[in-house]
Amino acid sequence: MRSIHTRLLTLVVALLPLPLLMGGCSTNAATGKLQFNTMSRSQEVALGSQAMPGLIEGYGGEVQDERLRNYVSAIGMEVAQGVEEEYRDIPWEFTLLDSEVINAFALPGGKVFISRGLMERMTNESQLAGVLGHEIGHVTAEHADQQVSRQMVIQGIAVGAAMAASTQEDASWTSYGVPVLVGGAGLFNLKFGRDEESQADALGMRYMTRAGYNPRGMLGLMEILQEASGGGGGQPEFLSTHPLPQTRIDRIKQKLKNQYKAETADPSFITGELRFQQEILPMLRAYSHAQPAREFTQGELVLLASTERGCWCPACCGGGSD
Ligand SMILES: [Zn+2]
Repeated sequence: MRSIHTRLLTLVVALLPLPLLMGGCSTNAATGKLQFNTMSRSQEVALGSQAMPGLIEGYGGEVQDERLRNYVSAIGMEVAQGVEEEYRDIPWEFTLLDSEVINAFALPGGKVFISRGLMERMTNESQLAGVLGHEIGHVTAEHADQQVSRQMVIQGIAVGAAMAASTQEDASWTSYGVPVLVGGAGLFNLKFGRDEESQADALGMRYMTRAGYNPRGMLGLMEILQEASGGGGGQPEFLSTHPLPQTRIDRIKQKLKNQYKAETADPSFITGELRFQQEILPMLRAYSHAQPAREFTQGELVLLASTERGCWCPACCGGGSD
């Protein structure tokens, strides 16, 4: 499928007017890499806002406890302060999903989501900063945007998108983008590859460290995910398109030893164990216990199946319908 898409993309790109393509190509400020993204910032924000309600519903709604929601939001906003200048004006928003599945993902335009199922497995605040940083990294690296842009070119609607941009018709434009992002089960639909996941890990470590968190939190997070996925194994289809948790753990260990050696050993970079274990976790567990039992949504069932294959973030493992 992918190679046919690639060939189609090459063909369509070859047929598109040069100014449009040049308008879609730029160097990403977070990764320093050349990328193809036809979306303007206002279109990214509009797309994220349009896709958000359906996704929240797909994951069983938001956690109702305001203190927990505010806590996640506060940590997310701290980490988001560390993004590059170009992304400071993104209206960052952090949502705690009332779902037991282990999950986190982000939409273009700065909408970041984490499930209480994932948060309950954490032991300190720096792990939370790590996962939020990873998802912020997907946003600043514009991974989803690039996939939506590619899809639109494949579907031959990039010209229409460019026209919509010029007339500020963001709402009509998002009607193309939302189905690309959100699958039928109300799940985040995109799959990212090895390079994109490693990029998001690296950016997450950059942002959490700038916010004053010990970057070891990213390693702790990966170990939790590895344990949750039954030791890091997986089905062949997972292994073929996504890095093994062990590979990611090794890369993060490498970075901790080289790039972040000083920060890792410096006690002023916090782990935030006390507050998390004494205040936040008990509050979260009490909340979970107080919830009446409910059926998993269709989206959660799909994700539970993929979690068993060793996945956590649909963006990372492809939690879509296939
Ligand atoms: Zn990811």
